[in-house]
Amino acid sequence: MPKITVLPGDGIGPEIITEAVKVLQVIAEQGNASFTFEQFPVGGVAIDQTGVPLPANTLEQCKSSDAVLLGAVGGPKWDTLPGELRPEMALLGLRKELQLFSNLRPAKVYDALIEASTLKREVIQGVDLLVVRELTGGIYFGEKTKVETEQGIKVTDALTYTELEIERIVRLGFETAMKRRKKLTSVDKANILESSRVWRAVAEKVAVDYPEVELNHMLVDNCAMQLVRNPKQFDVIVTENMFGDILSDEAAMLTGSIGMLPSASMGTGSVGMFEPIHGSAPDIAGQGVANPLATILSAAMMLKYSFGMNEEAEQIEKAVFNVLEEGYRTKDLATEDSKVVTTQEMGDLVVHALKS
Ligand code: NAD
Repeated sequence: MPKITVLPGDGIGPEIITEAVKVLQVIAEQGNASFTFEQFPVGGVAIDQTGVPLPANTLEQCKSSDAVLLGAVGGPKWDTLPGELRPEMALLGLRKELQLFSNLRPAKVYDALIEASTLKREVIQGVDLLVVRELTGGIYFGEKTKVETEQGIKVTDALTYTELEIERIVRLGFETAMKRRKKLTSVDKANILESSRVWRAVAEKVAVDYPEVELNHMLVDNCAMQLVRNPKQFDVIVTENMFGDILSDEAAMLTGSIGMLPSASMGTGSVGMFEPIHGSAPDIAGQGVANPLATILSAAMMLKYSFGMNEEAEQIEKAVFNVLEEGYRTKDLATEDSKVVTTQEMGDLVVHALKS
């Protein structure tokens, strides 16, 4: 019986998590699956209760579970705390302790929401891509130096990868492509960076194990351009940490709606972590207006990537699609002719669509 640790967190976290858990419960009722849900404090609420953003008990529970479903952390109440005590430190702690070396961020454009994008309809209609970003290596974690010289401060951020680190993320890229349209774009800067040349060579080596997947290489500057010029050409993009950070935000904005975007973090261990890409939205917390769909879609990613329940994941995606097609919107996406609903009503509509 898959054990899911639920970490609602702060702000709108508890409101959106409630709806995602409701949807997972319906999936369990409808099929042969059954999940256990255990809830623990993380972020600001954990600071209030225990003095630290990631209490030992919360971490232990996450480690002993099959998957973690997280809402969001942070808020003005904790903004003045010193860096290491801030709610966001819980996220870094979870990534490190669960050895989550990858972040998967799909960007899918729903027909019903096409007007929310800043790009033209013909460019984005049908876009369905996924960025696989390396999360624990590269320039963000490399050696940093800062020395005084005659020309002023001289500063270095080293971009470091081992072949092993590259291979495991590239392999995940291929595995993910196998579950989708079997097309993988490996993004690098191989015309300039030595690390990228090794990256490319590793990608070629791993490709031998996945003959069904079509692999192509693209330079990062070209990829940034292609994402807005012709995003439909992409299925799965795999790339290193900093390129992935930038490209996944760019890809996310193709859809134009932050309340719709899920994410998954997978690692060397068996526990994956699933969360919406948005934050705790303190400006709308407690009002019942938050969009729960990013969290519901994160739960669908959990079914797909942690439990291999592809069909059930697709059922959730289809239910979300149907609810949007019927014109229902939370306030963030509402236009003049929308049927505006609350967070809870949106969850209920997805449940209803799943049942019918
Ligand atoms: P945010 O994503 O919380 O909010 C940005 C804007 O988008 C706000 O206007 C908000 O109301 C809106 N929004 C976000 N999610 C929404 C949803 N589901 N439905 C409707 N509207 C939504 O970003 P922020 O305001 O920069 O950060 C707020 C807090 O969240 C900060 O403390 C920040 O550190 C934290 N944060 C946490 C995470 C995380 O937990 N993974 C990620 C980003 C930011």
